[in-house]
Amino acid sequence: MISRRQMVAGTTLLAAGQWLNPAAGLANVVPALPFPMGVAAGDPRPDGFVIWTRLALDPLAPDGAGGMHDPVTVRWEVAEDEAMMRPVRQGSYVAIGALAHSVHIELEGLAPGRQYFYRFHALNGTSEVGRARTAPAPDAKVDHLRFVFASCSHWEEGYFTAYRRMAEEDPDFSLFLGDYIYEYNNSGKHLEHCVRQHPVREATDLASYRLRYALYKQDPDLRALHAAAACLMTWDDHEVQNDYANAISQDPSVPPDIFMRRRAAAYQAYYEHMPLRRRSLPQGADMRIYDRYRFGRLMEMPVLDGRQYRNAEACPLPKSRSGHVVPLFCTERDDPQRTMLGYAQEKWLFDGFRRSTAQWNVVAQDLLMAGFLQKGTDGTIGHWTDGWDGYPACRKRVLDAVSASRLANPVFLGGDIHSFWTTDLKADFDNPASATIATEFVGGSISANAPPYEPFAAMLPQNPNVRYFESRLHGYVAIDLTPRQMMTRFRSVDRRSDGSPASTFKSFVVEDGRRGALEV
Ligand code: FE
Ligand code: CA
Repeated sequence: MISRRQMVAGTTLLAAGQWLNPAAGLANVVPALPFPMGVAAGDPRPDGFVIWTRLALDPLAPDGAGGMHDPVTVRWEVAEDEAMMRPVRQGSYVAIGALAHSVHIELEGLAPGRQYFYRFHALNGTSEVGRARTAPAPDAKVDHLRFVFASCSHWEEGYFTAYRRMAEEDPDFSLFLGDYIYEYNNSGKHLEHCVRQHPVREATDLASYRLRYALYKQDPDLRALHAAAACLMTWDDHEVQNDYANAISQDPSVPPDIFMRRRAAAYQAYYEHMPLRRRSLPQGADMRIYDRYRFGRLMEMPVLDGRQYRNAEACPLPKSRSGHVVPLFCTERDDPQRTMLGYAQEKWLFDGFRRSTAQWNVVAQDLLMAGFLQKGTDGTIGHWTDGWDGYPACRKRVLDAVSASRLANPVFLGGDIHSFWTTDLKADFDNPASATIATEFVGGSISANAPPYEPFAAMLPQNPNVRYFESRLHGYVAIDLTPRQMMTRFRSVDRRSDGSPASTFKSFVVEDGRRGALEV
């Protein structure tokens, strides 16, 4: 995208300070009713993006309706400047209770590779001003792209300060890799270690999922990030239920048809609260969120859905279908028919690999991709069933497709595991000497509890494909991409201290044309 320097030079009407400290002035604004959840933009394309808000007069009203009933006409406007003095688009939209008075406007006809500002008006109130950049034109030569990614924000287990620090990076876009909400409530001794408490019951139906989003989206740090840049997103399990797999609940007593009602409610609430296009509007319990994004000639980014289409987890325990470490003799895990992405998404992904002409191909998805031999809490040595290690045949098809298509500069990004990882994705997990097919970076959690460091660290000698592991810190990942290299910074924030600064504790470079990360 346009370099920071060009941007400042080209926007003489704005004080330079506004660009140097982009989150200033946005972050601390408490938006007036009826916009307590702020604004967001998503799905940046060269000619536009989606702008979002949701009206609520009483956001935590127990029925989940936000204190809203009748349809409300919302005016929206888009301008070239933050003061909204140079408007380029405006319109109106009728927000309805069937979609929780959410507003999704798909902007078209904007100029590529530039920044716009937007806001909404309704019920005598005006929202805060959000900003977002369109993607560069598909054939544009892009010198620099900055983006940030994160996952796993548990409202009880820490503050969302990391989201504010992400906004301050002034990214071209942000990327949410799942567990944007947590559906369950901590209780008892777990709650003693929390900084705050979910004020409403566990999310299981439409009203309670809406309440979860209404709570999270009022967080000023999360609002600041959404107001600062357009986002791309995928989900993981906690947007519905811990470790669910397609139609399978982690609770074996819940039959698939009953669980699918819960999934439908969860997906609808997700749609209502995220800046998604109309084509993602759920059809019952089905909702398409995987898609492919292009940022000029520099980068193509497929964003995958690792939950909706997967086979049931391998070798389940009798009392729970949730993830666990299975021994190597769990042969179901190795079944070549098994898929985590679903065959339709696999075909779509591999077709994209074959067609891509981008210099960098960065696959964003929700889970640790690398194989990892680990020790379960019961001493079992084996593999974790809820992630890619539960679907090794699918992983092999993905990596084979990367190789067969000679995909340029493949990098995978992931979340879920509440810890930071840099790995070499090997052609053959069991043979450390096999070729490195791609590089992987996994971000830590914004605030959700991390796995204990020692048991994982103790297994690193048996996993030479893992180049770096850290679970004692929380935060996010910032990436600066240029034609020559990808610079990845692992950033930590103290989740227990509201307003904590962020610092870089580890950085890696991936050079153009060379597989594998280099420590810097
Ligand atoms: Fe998580
Ligand atoms: Ca997860």
